[in-house]
Amino acid sequence: MFRILTGSDYDEVMYLQPSKLCRYLICPKMSKIELFNRLDFSQNTEGSKQAMYMGSWLHKMYYEKNGNTVNNLLLKEIRKHYGKVLQKQILIERIKVILRGKFDNLEINPVLGTVSVVEGKTTGKGRLTTRELSAALFQLQIYLFILKPILNNLGWELDKYHYLEIYDQNTYTMMKRIEVEEDMETEEMIKEIVKSFLGLSPMMLPPSYICKRCPRQVKSICGRTSK
Ligand code: SF4
Repeated sequence: MFRILTGSDYDEVMYLQPSKLCRYLICPKMSKIELFNRLDFSQNTEGSKQAMYMGSWLHKMYYEKNGNTVNNLLLKEIRKHYGKVLQKQILIERIKVILRGKFDNLEINPVLGTVSVVEGKTTGKGRLTTRELSAALFQLQIYLFILKPILNNLGWELDKYHYLEIYDQNTYTMMKRIEVEEDMETEEMIKEIVKSFLGLSPMMLPPSYICKRCPRQVKSICGRTSK
């Protein structure tokens, strides 16, 4: 069971969405800007609006399933007890950090009855960059960290393997399914990231060529120019 923090344990509350927190591995500053600023994406180009639309449409198509398979019954059970948006709280430097997000899918191993967590990513560029791939894998680890106690409370155990699925936005097909084991250092990593957000440890910026793919809204707040 989670320990419920009382008001005397913390001074502030910080909400972190896994989908933005994981982008720390692309650029720490990008992650911080996306987490703590209200960004306006309404002025995006038609191309990037289309890419965002395709990404969410593919997620709906692959992961918002209905029906009475064991997988879907488990998803319904989680929603019934914990809601659609899951959360987990940890205390870091007297800040109540609340990880809050919606995972993509679960799969039940038909032989062992154990549960794998599945994270899906879409791309229209044929592949994820190395940093995008690291971020996607980290996002999966954050969901494992959130989901493990929830599944245990409901009487389920995590499988040894979990999956990152990468879909092509042009052909709507799965390009890759990567098998991943749970990383026991995830909590430590989140703590280190939060400390860097608080200015308690250095935040290393990526090489400037990474800035070329930084969202325009983020770049304008950051102010760094790409070479
Ligand atoms: S412009 Fe570069 S350094 Fe700044 S947030 Fe974007 S990727 Fe990071």
